[in-house]
Amino acid sequence: MPELPEVETVRRGIEAPLRQQQIINTIIRDSRLRWPVDDALPALAANARVIAVTRRAKYLLIETDKGRLMVHLGMSGRLYFVPAGTPAGVHDHIDWELSNGQALRYTDPRRFGSVHWLALNESGHALLDHLGPEPLSNDFDGELLYQRSRKRSSAVKTFIMDGRIVVGVGNIYANEALFRAGIHPKLAAGKVSRPRYQRLADEIKQVLSEAIAQGGTTLKDFLGGDGKPGYFKQELSVYGRGGLECLRCTAVLKEVRLGQRATVFCPNCQKR
Ligand SMILES: [Zn+2]
Repeated sequence: MPELPEVETVRRGIEAPLRQQQIINTIIRDSRLRWPVDDALPALAANARVIAVTRRAKYLLIETDKGRLMVHLGMSGRLYFVPAGTPAGVHDHIDWELSNGQALRYTDPRRFGSVHWLALNESGHALLDHLGPEPLSNDFDGELLYQRSRKRSSAVKTFIMDGRIVVGVGNIYANEALFRAGIHPKLAAGKVSRPRYQRLADEIKQVLSEAIAQGGTTLKDFLGGDGKPGYFKQELSVYGRGGLECLRCTAVLKEVRLGQRATVFCPNCQKR
């Protein structure tokens, strides 16, 4: 599943080629995504000129002079460029044909992604309401985690993965950041001290920044249109390493389910 670093990598990859292009034609081959794609999209987006590509949580926002395209990649979605008119495969659901002869293609085998159009006078969208701050912004820090967690008995790992608290901390990154911060994933969120949340917030920023930096090296896979998902592999300390030795202390890493998500931690480095 594309996580925040992958989505950010896609954003960086498509922004420069899209900027100043006009959307000449929108071809919807299959509107049955997570939510049906609006039939009016081709008319709404016709001749729109792209100004910028931004991101909120895992939503890409293609900003134009006529409105905004809001794209979520779901479980298996991809956005990349092909020459306009390139024959479409069975999972190539939408093409936006551009003034430079290229097309931005949306491919999504599992169809859990979504595409919405936001008119210029719409400041936001229901899907974007109630989202917590961006993890790499200054709005997110240990103090926010500390304040929002008081009296909460849910596990700290579940707490930091809650998009209403902070967006974009997927399962892999939650596991890694907790390991680096030395915090047991099942510890009640309300029991974590302010200094430990400061450390945890720093580690969340660090692990996501490293993943984004890693993503830059694999950008071609995202945009090449070769049909491969191309999501990058970060060097991980705990995720996917249950039963193996801790890289820091050589204790055996434990793997448990927490909120139905694979949770790996070192019983020695993350005692509490
Ligand atoms: Zn250890």
